[in-house]
Amino acid sequence: MSDCLFCKIRDGQIPAKVVYQDDTCLAFEDINPQAPTHVLFIPRKHIATVNDITEGDEATVGHLFTAAAKLAHQRGHDANGYRVVMNTNRDAGQTVFHIHLHLLAGRPLMWPPG
Ligand code: IMP
Repeated sequence: MSDCLFCKIRDGQIPAKVVYQDDTCLAFEDINPQAPTHVLFIPRKHIATVNDITEGDEATVGHLFTAAAKLAHQRGHDANGYRVVMNTNRDAGQTVFHIHLHLLAGRPLMWPPG
């Protein structure tokens, strides 16, 4: 999508602090971090919202979780814990319409998030 912020980050048109990438996904530091670790994992494929995930995307979406868990492990968050979350549409506060898995860690995280 030509007007998608995260597609532009994927394509290197907008700078980002990339912390991980492979053939399926890209991970970069959130520009407005809400925790000591706040990394966004996006699929290279443009998918606007969770509503737009199809059965053919299941491996891609699952891959975001394994990539996030690996980074959480590398950063030493296994024991204390971390949160992975994907916001969908208005009531959840989704602001960028290219799915992204937030990895939040490094402080106690409240529940429910509000
Ligand atoms: P959402 O509210 O779940 O859609 O999350 C969007 C996230 O993208 C927010 O946490 C923003 O801080 C983050 N964000 C917006 N623009 C950029 C950017 O240019 N680089 C990195 N993160 C961004």
